[in-house]
Amino acid sequence: MNETQSLAQASDSGGPATGSDHVPTFRLYVAGEWVESTSGGTFESRNPADRRDVVGRFQAGTRADLAMAIRAAELAFPAWRATPAPRRGELLFRFGELMARHKERLARAMTREMGKVLAEARGDVQEGIDIAYLMAGEGRRMFGDTVPSELPDKWAMSIRQPIGIAGIITPWNFPIAIPCWKMMPALVAGNTVVFKPASDTPHCATLLVELLAEAGLPPGVVNLVTGTGADIGEALVESPDVSVISFTGNSATGRRIAELAGRRLKRVALELGGKNAVVVLRDADLDLAVDGIVWSAFGTTGQRCTACSRVIVERPVVDELVARLTERASRLKLGSGLDETVDVGPLVNGAALEKVESYVEVGRSEGELVCGGSRVTHGELAHGNFFAPSIFTGVRAMDRIGQEEIFGPVLSVIAVADYAEAMTAANQTRYGLSASIFTRDVNTAFRAVRDFETGIVYVNAGTTGAETHLPFGGWKETGNGHREAGHAALDTYTEWKSIYVDFSGKLQRAQIDNQ
Ligand code: NDP
Repeated sequence: MNETQSLAQASDSGGPATGSDHVPTFRLYVAGEWVESTSGGTFESRNPADRRDVVGRFQAGTRADLAMAIRAAELAFPAWRATPAPRRGELLFRFGELMARHKERLARAMTREMGKVLAEARGDVQEGIDIAYLMAGEGRRMFGDTVPSELPDKWAMSIRQPIGIAGIITPWNFPIAIPCWKMMPALVAGNTVVFKPASDTPHCATLLVELLAEAGLPPGVVNLVTGTGADIGEALVESPDVSVISFTGNSATGRRIAELAGRRLKRVALELGGKNAVVVLRDADLDLAVDGIVWSAFGTTGQRCTACSRVIVERPVVDELVARLTERASRLKLGSGLDETVDVGPLVNGAALEKVESYVEVGRSEGELVCGGSRVTHGELAHGNFFAPSIFTGVRAMDRIGQEEIFGPVLSVIAVADYAEAMTAANQTRYGLSASIFTRDVNTAFRAVRDFETGIVYVNAGTTGAETHLPFGGWKETGNGHREAGHAALDTYTEWKSIYVDFSGKLQRAQIDNQ
């Protein structure tokens, strides 16, 4: 174990001192070595539940650091692509086992660094484990097609091949799961990786890369560069040596990345924002609906791409539903997610707090605030980014709080006359990630499955809870048509090759000699 590994692994207990303030310093991972940035500078990651708590200092990576990481990935590519896919899968399986062994440590580090409550942090790590195991299996599948040829004595088939270097740019809200959702398919397919994590969660990224190294990935196959998105992120997108970019984050950043990549005809997979709706019909089990909505709207403090931020409800049950939601939301306990009795952790940073606050102001002129609506600063919470779970009623589908992604614990309730109006409202958004319907009528449930314009649909459940063996991603401006997870994830990181083997001993011309 090298020095940086021991630094990172000791950090749950405070980490060894590198200065008088006992804050550990972490490094970049390039070509199998833990190295300092050429900038000589660092940035801090702080606990959003208590901003006095500094998790660590991280290298302020430069374009020169990035160039070294890309070069390392380039040098590692020929041997890695030549490694049999089942063997690559075995290394991912070993990584999954390591994550399972370190699950609690990773979850605690995540809660400390970005705030989600411990139960959800464990779920985040579990998603990483699940995709590692799934993609380990792909090492022995990675199906292509073998099909009959239209000509005699001729074989036709297709195989997947790696693209080259994958640039992985990730957000802070699923700091283990999302990097794994991207890196596992990239690696099993034979690509090498340069990983640029969110600047709010560099510690989680470091812990993850330590385990990848421990699993036995050869030097240069995965490289970690911390630093700003505007600088390192854009340089990664613009590098002519990086063949594919996989990005999850907000829509404005995604648009910028698509523009930069488009000029280079570079493949880019985008997973962007959402404005996910739960539809509640008059025949719904309201207890179940309330459970599903509270979990989807206020879990992870509303900071999930699949979070429910709109409830679209038939008028006969709107008052009853709002009363129950308000009662439940106002009882949610806020605090540090490391306290197992806490329901809702902090927002990730001060900018998120300000954004949520500004949308609540917008909401006051569009609907009626029936719950929450302000920062929570009493006692110990004074040092964190806490905002009360908030509910607006009387919102119209096209209001700003009904249309724009807030990414916080703010729920808008939209009343409608019937199923048709509910579906119009649900689809009246530029996003299309997730949607759900609560109804006891099986016919209506299947109509909704057909009618929602989203990549994910739930029946009688909230808008969150994707499993790793089905495709994950959205329609419309939630993305650009790519999918994470499932075997669909391999499409981002592979090129198809179609192969024709003619063993007739003569020239056979397709579409001509067989007519
Ligand atoms: P950002 O877009 O701000 O950041 C995401 C990543 O992109 C970070 O690593 C960031 O680096 C980097 N980045 C920022 N600017 C650039 C740039 N110009 N070029 C290249 N990289 C850049 O997103 P958030 O962190 O705010 O994440 C929240 C968003 O993610 C929400 O909109 C949410 O809906 C979306 N999301 C979507 C999911 C999906 O699957 N559809 C899943 C989860 C989240 P740095 O941190 O250094 O700025």
